[in-house]
Amino acid sequence: MADTQGKVITCRAAVAWGPEEPLVIQEICVDPPQKMEVRVKILYSSICHTDLGAWTGVNEAERAFPRILGHEAVGIVESVGEGVKDVKEGDYVIPTFNGECGECRVCTNGVSNLCERYKVDPMKRLMVNDGGTRFSTTTNKDGSSSQSQRVYHFLNTSTFTEYTVLDSACVVKIDPNAPLKQMSLLSCGVSTGVGAAWNTANVKEGTTTAVFGLGSVGLAVAEGARARGASRIIGVDANASKFEKGKLMGVTDFVNPKDLTKPVHERIRELIGGGVDYSFECTGNVDVLREAFLATHAGWGSTVLVGIYLTPRTLPLHPMELFDGRRITGSIFGGFKPKSQLPNFAQQCMKGVVKLEPFITNELPFEKINDAFQLLRDGKSLRCLLQISKLLKK
Ligand code: NAD
Ligand code: ZN
Ligand code: ZN
Repeated sequence: MADTQGKVITCRAAVAWGPEEPLVIQEICVDPPQKMEVRVKILYSSICHTDLGAWTGVNEAERAFPRILGHEAVGIVESVGEGVKDVKEGDYVIPTFNGECGECRVCTNGVSNLCERYKVDPMKRLMVNDGGTRFSTTTNKDGSSSQSQRVYHFLNTSTFTEYTVLDSACVVKIDPNAPLKQMSLLSCGVSTGVGAAWNTANVKEGTTTAVFGLGSVGLAVAEGARARGASRIIGVDANASKFEKGKLMGVTDFVNPKDLTKPVHERIRELIGGGVDYSFECTGNVDVLREAFLATHAGWGSTVLVGIYLTPRTLPLHPMELFDGRRITGSIFGGFKPKSQLPNFAQQCMKGVVKLEPFITNELPFEKINDAFQLLRDGKSLRCLLQISKLLKK
């Protein structure tokens, strides 16, 4: 049994104090896990665009500071709360922002992965058990001491900290022999993209796909479509530096909107007589979503929304446009039910069905987390892996 079990742990975390304010690495206190909660030592965490969106605070309703961001990680269970049966101290786990309780009406039916109790909720900042936080600090952002103040949770996970507390529904056990750094990618980006292609769109062999936005999520869509045997994969991005990586993930044609004098969908309809079978919107831009929708073939084209839209604008379609027979749907966490389906997906990745290694473009120590945010913001990284704490034994 860990000698920290049942005790408060003092450790380092990167605390976000306000929109776009540099994260502050400081000491925080992490309470023991309560009933059906798990305390996890985070080993590696990477940064997803959704962290960037929460940090910039564009959507004011979702703001909550001070807060510990981060949702893409891998770690080791330090201790578990009362009633937790499926993981124990020493297990290797990945946190999941979209949980699975295994008991609600959604979890017990095969159709959706949006668990009634633990599905992703960008507004959520407190633990469900008691409406409190498990994080607190006694220092302000400038290092001066303060009364104990609570630090909010983020996306069911909060991984930019040496220790975090999660609901057990949001913890997935993985093979201890799996490559840990790469497993972090399954916590969000790669599962989201590959799952969107496999589970949501169900991309078939010999079909055509267009992917809008070639960050980790979009490139994972491409990799998923490649693994399914898509014949053409068109990658659309305004940052041409993404095209080199795209080739590795099976992207066959590249379109840079900046090089065009016509709308992107017209170019795609020219490239693939009439339009693609599937399109995926992975930028979070509503205008790009319209292009993705119109880039599919009338009659059967299918568009999957993956980006997170921080704007209050609504769907950029006229209802009559749906009479052309194009379909549109959203995908959270690639449609994967995390606890029941991710371990199998991890095995497939380890067998090489999906390549993980190219997604890690940078590695930095925890202290450099603000540099890692900047790399993603500048379009210079896919995933920058931060070493949050050291693995003492394995
Ligand atoms: P990223 O920043 O690494 O990649 C986004 C890419 O889109 C970049 O390459 C950028 O150059 C490109 N882009 C942006 N605006 C563009 C435009 N107008 N035209 C063409 N290209 C443009 O982000 P990511 O981590 O890959 O995440 C992608 C999106 O997916 C984000 O909105 C993120 O919040 C969302 N997301 C959704 C889920 C989900 O479950 N649905 C999960 C993870 C991430
Ligand atoms: Zn994410
Ligand atoms: Zn459930």
